[in-house]
Amino acid sequence: MPTLINFKICDNSPECGGIAICPTNAMYYDENKKSIVIDNEKCISCGLCKPNCPVSAIHVAKTDKEFQQLKKEVENDSRKIKDLFVDRYGASPISDFFIISEDQVEEKILKEGITIIEIYTDDSIQCLLKSIPIKDITDEIEGDVSFFKLKRTEQLEKSYKIKETPSLLIFKDGSYKDKIDGYFDSNQIEEFKENIREILTL
Ligand code: SF4
Repeated sequence: MPTLINFKICDNSPECGGIAICPTNAMYYDENKKSIVIDNEKCISCGLCKPNCPVSAIHVAKTDKEFQQLKKEVENDSRKIKDLFVDRYGASPISDFFIISEDQVEEKILKEGITIIEIYTDDSIQCLLKSIPIKDITDEIEGDVSFFKLKRTEQLEKSYKIKETPSLLIFKDGSYKDKIDGYFDSNQIEEFKENIREILTL
């Protein structure tokens, strides 16, 4: 019983990266059940499937004891699939809602209030559950706050001296204040928010 899937966070897609890479076809999509299935008789515990799941829903155990432990962890997992469908800092955009183009920057920056623009790339980190929901970034900021995502370009790199993406550009009352370069995962949310608070007091 080596491999199990946490269906609380798995989107159960036939396009699953684990299915694509499984060398023994132990993992497959069952059209009748409309679900990913694992035939643990065929599974050789190679572990190839695990890193191919962008939300870390696949677990591979080497021993029965480890499997039982993982099973318990999955049972106790309080997350839900809907947690995935929230746009997040550090992840490629899910909805078009936040996306702007370079020539819209000027018009989008609030003359009164805070504007946060995240510079992203298409290969931005994909593990959505480990990244920070946009609403959690902006919930403590007083006044009007706008959040946008903007694809990284050479021009933006030059203009804002971007070294690493994601890069969060912070504007206050129409003026650029500073930026935060690099990825912070959801365990670092307090540190991340503190950085934003500091920039907003500049
Ligand atoms: S551990 Fe290897 S054999 Fe087992 S389901 Fe994953 S990819 Fe397939």
